[in-house]
Amino acid sequence: MSHPPDSQPGTPARNPALFSSALPSYLKPDDLGPWGIYLQQVDRVTPYLGRLSRWVDTLKRPKRSLIVDVPIHLDDGSVAHFEGYRVQHNTSRGPGKGGVRFHQNVTLSEVMALAAWMSIKNAAVNVPYGGAKGGVRVDPRQLSLGELERVTRRYTSEIGILIGPNKDIPAPDVNTNEQVMAWMMDTYSMNEGTTTTGVVTGKPLDLGGSLGRREATGRGVFTLGLEAARLIGLDVASARVALQGFGNVGGVAAQLFAHAGAQVVAVQDHGGCIYRAGGLDVPALLAHVAHCGSVADFAAAEPLANDAFWDVPCDILIPAALEQQITAANAGRIQARLIIEGANGPTTPQADDILHERGVLVLPDVIANAGGVTVSYFEWVQDFSSFFWSEDEVNERLMKVMKGAFATIWQVAQQHRVSLRTATFIVACSRILHARDLRGLYP
Ligand code: GLU
Repeated sequence: MSHPPDSQPGTPARNPALFSSALPSYLKPDDLGPWGIYLQQVDRVTPYLGRLSRWVDTLKRPKRSLIVDVPIHLDDGSVAHFEGYRVQHNTSRGPGKGGVRFHQNVTLSEVMALAAWMSIKNAAVNVPYGGAKGGVRVDPRQLSLGELERVTRRYTSEIGILIGPNKDIPAPDVNTNEQVMAWMMDTYSMNEGTTTTGVVTGKPLDLGGSLGRREATGRGVFTLGLEAARLIGLDVASARVALQGFGNVGGVAAQLFAHAGAQVVAVQDHGGCIYRAGGLDVPALLAHVAHCGSVADFAAAEPLANDAFWDVPCDILIPAALEQQITAANAGRIQARLIIEGANGPTTPQADDILHERGVLVLPDVIANAGGVTVSYFEWVQDFSSFFWSEDEVNERLMKVMKGAFATIWQVAQQHRVSLRTATFIVACSRILHARDLRGLYP
């Protein structure tokens, strides 16, 4: 491929510093948050990218970042404003794709990192998407159902300039669900004047949702967990599992592991932490959480201090909540041999190094939790073709995609003697940057 010459007659004298990829000016260099972690992960993989490394700066800044004001009427008639974001990190391989989270601590840096991890994840499982993510800085637990609907609809309208079934397709994430997706789909459709089911995934079945989507992330965590356990000689049927987070990901994964004979010994969530050496009754705990909103006060278990969760004797640890939970402060205490990242970004690079040295296998988020977006892709395909698959078909295809992607990544990890995270980044970044290279720069 030919490239423009390095210099041309008449090129003015330049300050090279102004032409290198500096950090975006909107982030403070000493407080990069999750985006800083993502940048370190990219730096670790750059030496393995060969000639594609000339494009690596593409990955170090998002393609588009939109910040919106989300004003709504509260039930008492007053007006409240919330901050909303939608970031498209990369669209070289296809439209933006990634969830929307509602959380009081959402920041631009976090949404940027989550969008970037979606680019990596989508490329790792080879679904034809780029990466995007959205969020609203709001605590949905403090909103009535009507207020939640108004936040969702106004946010959707505000990001309407970016999203669309061929442009950027949101989905559920932390604190968003099928109902939120139904409101998003309806708002977009009303604004467009035509019902457009393919604009979001993770919808209710009666609105173009897919069988198996709700369980897909947890099922993927379990499927790859089994593969990894087998490779390190860990018998899942007698394994002890500890989970952080018991929502859509952790709850489903717990059920599947328990069904396979494993003992779920500890669960921590936003309300507290519980432990039972002999194994928790998972169906009873799911019913308790559905009723009380948290694992706290579950009768058939002993309460544990939140920090003690990291010392729990277990073989498999599944962080399935938020970012930056496994850090240099607790990585040395974790007893598990296998960590399966159901959450996005739960482990810091320092913790990664500690775990690697201790011989703990980390199945990284960008492959471990890719089941959700894989079935989102299936949902999108079904919406476009208006032809819907059976649950068995969905699950079978999911297994095939996940196992195939994992086999490739495992082989790359062996070949380069790197962690599974770096191997996943090698596979994914190469795919993204190859697409970038083929497309070239416009103009
Ligand atoms: N929020 C999920 C994730 O982090 C799913 C995204 C999607 O289905 O688009 O992977």
